[in-house]
Amino acid sequence: MKKLNIALVAHDARKQELVKWCTFNSCILKHHNLFATGTTGSLLAAIPEDSENTEYPLKDITLLKSGPLGGDQQIGAMIAEGKLDALIFFCDNLITQGHQQDVGALTRLASLYNIAFATNRTTADMIITSPLFGNEEYERIIPLSIKSYENRKLTLK
Ligand code: PGA
Repeated sequence: MKKLNIALVAHDARKQELVKWCTFNSCILKHHNLFATGTTGSLLAAIPEDSENTEYPLKDITLLKSGPLGGDQQIGAMIAEGKLDALIFFCDNLITQGHQQDVGALTRLASLYNIAFATNRTTADMIITSPLFGNEEYERIIPLSIKSYENRKLTLK
């Protein structure tokens, strides 16, 4: 099994949903390197040992800064540097966040760099149960558009 780098983020209204999802999937998640924005990560690390379905509490999570304080941008930087394989980001789609631009920047990079990316539970379920999740043979394709952009020719006057 390939150890993946996975980032976990949830806006306040969806933190409980993410905690439940991570609790349910903890026996899979515990095999990977987990990163989370500050508040989300603190809640995940506090899942009690006897939580339903939690055989393996998620203690070993790298906590980044809180999302609105730069945590989303830290995750974006990991994506740009090729250090992230998957992003599970339960967004609150009913309100505009104070850091909405950071949210947009993060989701843009996740899409651009073709990482596994879920903004809701159904997609997260399908990602984590995919035979490609953690598969040694699977290599993420870096979109050709990135190379084309890097190699674009600019003429200076
Ligand atoms: P938080 O950040 O986990 O620190 O609340 C989430 C977010 O990006 O809004």
